[in-house]
Amino acid sequence: MSTCLVTGGAGFLGSHLCDELLSRGHRVICVDNFETGSLANIEHIRSDAFINLTLDIIEPYFVEEPIDYVYHLASPASPIDYLRLPLHTLKVGSYGTHHTLGLAKKHRARFLTASTSEVYGDPQVHPQPESYWGHVNPIGPRGVYDEAKRYAEALTMAYHRQQGVDTAIVRIFNTYGPRMRPHDGRAIPTFLRQALQDRPITVFGDGSQTRSFCYVDDLIRGIIALAESGHHDPVNVGNPNEFTLLELAQTVLEVTGSRSEIIFEALPTDDPQVRQPDISLAREILRWEPTIDLREGLERTIELSGPDALVDATR
Ligand code: NAD
Repeated sequence: MSTCLVTGGAGFLGSHLCDELLSRGHRVICVDNFETGSLANIEHIRSDAFINLTLDIIEPYFVEEPIDYVYHLASPASPIDYLRLPLHTLKVGSYGTHHTLGLAKKHRARFLTASTSEVYGDPQVHPQPESYWGHVNPIGPRGVYDEAKRYAEALTMAYHRQQGVDTAIVRIFNTYGPRMRPHDGRAIPTFLRQALQDRPITVFGDGSQTRSFCYVDDLIRGIIALAESGHHDPVNVGNPNEFTLLELAQTVLEVTGSRSEIIFEALPTDDPQVRQPDISLAREILRWEPTIDLREGLERTIELSGPDALVDATR
């Protein structure tokens, strides 16, 4: 049994990670300030092996209890959040990552930071392997998120190289599943909410831009496999099956049996035209690959969320 600290543990991915670590018999310390997460994501947990600490990692913090693994997931993640919280996003990627790496160093814990496919920016290489250094617009509205994550990667490698901290970097590609907020602005919760209410499905641009969607259970398995490996360089974790946004909208219509029509809206600034992970490295070093396809993942999301949670305007 290990003790795992999860920053952002009350968020979408963090809460699923807490569930899985507990189910594998580990102790879990969840750290969150509930900026974009929710108590509702963790209130089902009834375990003596779970501790919830409400704190803001932008300020220095310390935990007395010995820690074996630090999973650093805290950060606004949805465009709607980081466009609303640009300075907070930069601070959590910089100060928050410093404080969390410092904690891992004091405890001699293995540290894993949640990075993102957005570090690749404009995907001039397709699909994106870890060796692609990216093409990011630092001063566009999305720059606060992309550059915070690039800084967090640089900081993580500096703590590893200079301070000897045992670190890992996971580059997460679009992930979906239960506990996404219906109004967080990302494609899958938006389309599901609209379809379940028979309202028009709003596709940006002409819908020909592509994304690759990973079901949350697959992603969490990949993150834990990377944390438990000895690997230090970044590793892509995501589902390489690529769909256009229009194909996604049509699949949502089929799975929900909705009568919604599809309508088209303006593309957001710096929205990438394609996004697909090259997961050769994860396959090779972690023996990991996703197993849940889009249709099955959407069905599980609806079944496990219950239709009310997917349309709840207060979440
Ligand atoms: P989320 O917004 O649901 O979770 C983030 C959590 O961090 C929230 O619970 C929030 O309250 C917490 N948090 C934010 N600032 C904090 C602070 N200063 N102190 C303490 N807690 C703080 O987002 P998510 O989708 O679960 O994403 C989790 C991580 O995975 C993020 O780092 C994100 O960048 C990364 N990621 C997610 C995706 C995806 O598809 N969901 C894709 C790429 C990367």
